[in-house]
Amino acid sequence: MNDDQLLRYSRHILLPQVDIKGQQALLDAHVMIVGLGGLGSPVATYLAASGVGRLTLVDDDIVELSNLQRQVIHSEAQIGHSKVSSAEDRLKAINSDVELQLIDRRLDKAELLAATQDVDVLVDCSDNFATRFLLNEVSQVQGLPLVSGAAIRFEGQVTVYDPRQPGMPCYRCLYEDKGELEETCSESGILSPILSVIGGVQAVETVKLLMDVGDSLAGRLLILDAFSMSWREIKMKQDPTCPVCQKAE
Ligand SMILES: [Zn+2]
Repeated sequence: MNDDQLLRYSRHILLPQVDIKGQQALLDAHVMIVGLGGLGSPVATYLAASGVGRLTLVDDDIVELSNLQRQVIHSEAQIGHSKVSSAEDRLKAINSDVELQLIDRRLDKAELLAATQDVDVLVDCSDNFATRFLLNEVSQVQGLPLVSGAAIRFEGQVTVYDPRQPGMPCYRCLYEDKGELEETCSESGILSPILSVIGGVQAVETVKLLMDVGDSLAGRLLILDAFSMSWREIKMKQDPTCPVCQKAE
């Protein structure tokens, strides 16, 4: 670590649980963020500022006016540009040391498996079931921790699926892949700052996993009711008949 890095990350390094070792772990890390929308905005911003060495950003969407209410990494000047290139501009301005890889299309399973070979943590900031189930499969096959968040209306939820820990549930243990109708923010609405709360928790969990400190949310689902501003914690169990994690083990 050079002098600039020691200064830039000094408030991390001051923490005994982080120290030089933890910061070096972040600098050496590679994180894939899928979705550069409402959740991906705070996640990518905090991971870049925290000094995560390599970020792979995946999103096939372009920036629209109706995104700017909540997708705070993007700006008016970026309307019409791809979300990954818009995010790149902002992240480079925050921390030019971070190596960014941009993928501006949806990847199929084989492509995702290839692209996650040397990824340390996968962060699901997507807004649809198909992507969530796909990322879960990739996480299970690769033995890769998956930090998962979702938000709609006045509600949010966040957890970690960690296939490295024996007996831990995966996303498919909790949700059946029935192709059910999904609710979207474009139809149901979302109170903007809730995304920074849920995305913020995702960023915290990602950094902790990379530094290997603290207790992760693996096995616990946090549910936020922002209308009453209360959190619930649900213990999650592995489904012994789960077609994804039982097959992968
Ligand atoms: Zn499972």
